[in-house]
Amino acid sequence: MFNKKEYGIQYYQDNKEKRKEYNRQYKKANKEMVQEYGIQYYQDNKEKILFRKYGITLEERDRMILEQDNKCARCHLPFEGNGRGKPLTPVVDHDHSYSEGDPNSVRAILHNKCNLMVGWHNDSIEELKLSIDYLKKTSKLALTND
Ligand SMILES: [Zn+2]
Repeated sequence: MFNKKEYGIQYYQDNKEKRKEYNRQYKKANKEMVQEYGIQYYQDNKEKILFRKYGITLEERDRMILEQDNKCARCHLPFEGNGRGKPLTPVVDHDHSYSEGDPNSVRAILHNKCNLMVGWHNDSIEELKLSIDYLKKTSKLALTND
């Protein structure tokens, strides 16, 4: 007998790659529009997204920024602008080992760029040390500053 649900699952499996490729091409062809939509979506749903991801309200986030004297907790330079996508705008830094929406996961407010850097090291001091060691070995600037 024809099973609609099973057919749907099979169809999804069979066309997963095709759809992924279509989405990739669409995003590429409409890069600016997709980006703008993302920024607008974030603006319109900021409060909801913040609460769902970190379990804090917009007021709590803004209070943290004030408590940090409007400066990034990583590099101690001031935030610039608001919203999303710019390197110096404030973003919530959180510990990924907590479950989504747990306010205990929130560590501090960082620059978007600083948050990305911390993230690229997987919150790992060991990973960061590897980068420091590498720079010490290879960078002229690091050698003269050491
Ligand atoms: Zn920073």
